[in-house]
Amino acid sequence: MYADIIIDITHEKLDKVFQYSIPSELEGVLQTGMGVVVPFGKGNKETRGYVTGFSEKAEYDEAKIKSILRIAEESVAIEAKLVALAAWMKEHYGGTMIQALRTVIPIKKQERAKEKRSIHLLLSEEDGKRQLDIFLHKNQKARARLLAALLDQPRQEYDLVTKKLNVTRSVVRSLEEQKIIALESEQVFRSPLRKKTDLREAADYTREQQHAIDIFWEDYERDIRKTYLLYGVTGSGKTEVYMEMIGRVLKRGYQAIVLIPEIALTYQTVMRFYGRFGDRVSILNSRMSQGERYDQMELVKAGKTDVMIGPRSALFTPFPRLGLIVIDEEHETTYKSEQAPRFHARETAIERARIEGASVVLGSATPSLESFYACRCGRFQMLELKKRAGMHELPAVYVVDMRREMQAGNRSIISDRLRGLIESRLDRGEQIMLFLNRRGYAGFVSCRACGYVVKCPHCDVSLSAHRGGKLVCHYCGHEEPQVSHCPSCGSPYIGGFKAGTQQIEDLVRRQFPGARVLRMDMDTTRTKDGHEKILEAFASEEADILIGTQMIVKGHDFPNVTLVGILAADMSLYSNDYRAGERTFQLLTQAAGRAGRGKSAGEVVIQTYSPEHYSIEMAAAQDYEGFYEAEMNYRKLMGYPPAEELLAVLMTGPDEGLLETAARYLKEFALRIDRNRRLQIIGPASPYVAKVSDVYRRVLYLKGSDYRLLIAAKDRMEQYIEINKGFDTMRIQFDFNPMNVF
Ligand code: ADP
Ligand code: ZN
Ligand code: ZN
Repeated sequence: MYADIIIDITHEKLDKVFQYSIPSELEGVLQTGMGVVVPFGKGNKETRGYVTGFSEKAEYDEAKIKSILRIAEESVAIEAKLVALAAWMKEHYGGTMIQALRTVIPIKKQERAKEKRSIHLLLSEEDGKRQLDIFLHKNQKARARLLAALLDQPRQEYDLVTKKLNVTRSVVRSLEEQKIIALESEQVFRSPLRKKTDLREAADYTREQQHAIDIFWEDYERDIRKTYLLYGVTGSGKTEVYMEMIGRVLKRGYQAIVLIPEIALTYQTVMRFYGRFGDRVSILNSRMSQGERYDQMELVKAGKTDVMIGPRSALFTPFPRLGLIVIDEEHETTYKSEQAPRFHARETAIERARIEGASVVLGSATPSLESFYACRCGRFQMLELKKRAGMHELPAVYVVDMRREMQAGNRSIISDRLRGLIESRLDRGEQIMLFLNRRGYAGFVSCRACGYVVKCPHCDVSLSAHRGGKLVCHYCGHEEPQVSHCPSCGSPYIGGFKAGTQQIEDLVRRQFPGARVLRMDMDTTRTKDGHEKILEAFASEEADILIGTQMIVKGHDFPNVTLVGILAADMSLYSNDYRAGERTFQLLTQAAGRAGRGKSAGEVVIQTYSPEHYSIEMAAAQDYEGFYEAEMNYRKLMGYPPAEELLAVLMTGPDEGLLETAARYLKEFALRIDRNRRLQIIGPASPYVAKVSDVYRRVLYLKGSDYRLLIAAKDRMEQYIEINKGFDTMRIQFDFNPMNVF
């Protein structure tokens, strides 16, 4: 037996594992993740390495393979656990060990990324102008230049402004000393909060909150570690529950990780955690450079932090005594990585918790089918919050049938009912959110007169319109010609949805000329804090109406919003994806939950062409369990996850002909290894985006009820791909239970 050893795991150029032989006294003792000491390099210097895997064959000349010397002393260090986690990820999601390690271990950057600083003006405009006169009078030109620029724009990037204005560091420092300007580092969340010491004590919990906390804590005290699903309607006080659980775990000397989708990681959210835990909290975000991340991880190892809050990657925070992982909004698709290894943070968190002896708390108002199903099967324990805490009851929801609207002669994208309600809000000085549901929109074709949607006869997913005038199924490859009239009612109003947020803004400005309108989408949030700024402006009631995509449904509380309009609820319903119904239900429920979070009750209007679809009916009734039953029936019927397991094999390459042939060969191979016909093998099909910058894409699907069979098939396919030169020009990735059809 040989062991694969990785040497310096924090090195930037981490890309190689070395084979070592295992001395007889260590046979059967070594495990993946263990730290070992090996001779390395020309001088055979004793070097620390980690076991990443085992093999029976020598990769090169057996005589030249060196032997492991011994197990390193503290081999249960945090690195060992993370290496073991990486090995699990490689096994469960495919890809290489190096890719897995790079995901899990913070990499030291050779060149530290420079800290980005900004300069901002501390004076009022008036005082600033007075000061400017003084500088000019004294002929202090550099100071005047800097101040004038800041009077123009009170916050500017340090590097930019000093270079552009040719201002030296000493000038900046003197203005800083005069308290005219202040320097601020990028970590906006940290710096202003350092001083905060008045840690808020726990709130009075509602009975339901207390019950959830008690169950968790009774288990914890008895050393029982589990995965819990905190299933609570929006505004039921889940965050307070997480914080109490974390507080208790911390008191026992453990640390906690809190995953929050990046989009919900707003100032408001972060402040709540600071308010409770002060300086022990650290924030990770995706804008940080690798160097900054590395530094932060060093602080963690040094014991300076107990709570790490961040998106998916915060899961790998190297806490020495991890006691709890919280995943808020656990149903969010961003918890799935789109790079190899295509891991899901939920499953990976559960595995990390198993390795470390920690508990996992998943939270959502609209749990993923996977998690709810796991509760039904007894794998997870449900903790339920049915009532809103300290807030108004859930809003009233109306469904507007847009087909009727059209029959009645209203071709506008805003129904009569919604228009009337908007006017009433504007009169009362309350706020409105208009939400355009574009998520996962993939060019489906529907009839505006009767709501008919063109679907694949084999897969029950909608067909997508392609430029060549074809309708295509991205799941099985089925094609048919584009239609000019509705096959169901004969109406010529059949086609793709076209309206975007910009058009809606124009329309709203025309229809409600007095209203102040803000728009939030990809275009308006391109700048660094664009997203936060718009939310802030809306929160401070600088606008009456906020129009946006799914971005607006998360993060902030807007107590003055009493009306939410959901335009074209169907757009996400017929994306060519088996999760479309789930995603639609989640989005509608979350969007509806935005209304009435203050003192007045809220109302919600859902506009749709398919009011009879269960996702829309159940979202309107705010009935998650009803939705779950209907959706689960569909998944069982079609054999989609979580009823069955699904493995997508995504293949990309520059030569379409070769790719197609290779995909067919791979399918043949998969059929051959599945001797007992326990898997269903579908494709190869062209994904929705069939070509990206001249690289073609194909996808195969393997379906089956036994996860282990799919893993075994993945292993065999990986080997087959490695030894066959035909695949050399292609990139092949495996994706278990994909979040969407590619
Ligand atoms: P969720 O995370 O479930 O959406 P939050 O934890 O954000 O809910 O709570 C919603 C609002 O209710 C927040 O403003 C929070 O401060 C408040 N809240 C939570 N628990 C209580 C409680 N026990 N008593 C009063 N207010 C509460
Ligand atoms: Zn029709
Ligand atoms: Zn199909």
